[in-house]
Amino acid sequence: MEITNVEHPGDNVLRKNYQSAVKLYNGGLSIAKVAKRFRITRQAMFRALRRRGVKFRGKSLYGKANSFYRGTLASARVHNITEAAIKRGDLIPEPCQVCGNDGKFQDGRREVQSHHDNYNEPLEVTWLCQKCHFGWHVENKAIPEIEQKTIKIGEK
Ligand SMILES: [Zn+2]
Repeated sequence: MEITNVEHPGDNVLRKNYQSAVKLYNGGLSIAKVAKRFRITRQAMFRALRRRGVKFRGKSLYGKANSFYRGTLASARVHNITEAAIKRGDLIPEPCQVCGNDGKFQDGRREVQSHHDNYNEPLEVTWLCQKCHFGWHVENKAIPEIEQKTIKIGEK
């Protein structure tokens, strides 16, 4: 006799808790991290979240969330403009506008970083410590930089 539709033991338990998986994902955890907590594969978690109508952020948000720290091309131009403005004294770093932190890392760098809601406004800066800065990017999405078009002088 062939047995069909055998559910994996624990499926029901997991199914009950998927609502909390949705909450974790919507709260900013990656699919991989939520999946790890539920001890299922990332692919299985993706399907479970999709069944529940979760709107996926895509990788871009995480890329942006991390881009500032990794210095990727996404924000390198804006970062350079901001750094130059700080050196000139046009921008003056302030304590973290969320938690008031004004400390330094062991290597001497300030914990406060320049944050951009909108990468098209390089000098519109909010001062956030690294922790609050990362938190902002997990919860929010900055306006991405509009591609800078190369203008070739003399061409028609
Ligand atoms: Zn802070």
